[in-house]
Amino acid sequence: MVKKQYVCRNCKMFTTEKECPNCKSKDLSASWKGVVIINKMEDSEIVKALKVNKPGKYALFVG
Ligand SMILES: [Zn+2]
Repeated sequence: MVKKQYVCRNCKMFTTEKECPNCKSKDLSASWKGVVIINKMEDSEIVKALKVNKPGKYALFVG
């Protein structure tokens, strides 16, 4: 069984828990579009665009 994935509205990181593993926010959304995997923080436009601060799995848009 696949766990439902939520996206943090604050930092856009994916989680299957009820709390964001990155920023500990509980403001999660089940409505999201696009998946971005960030492996390293260097020279990536997407890192700047998403304003993320560590590698991980992020959504492009959060509803
Ligand atoms: Zn977060």
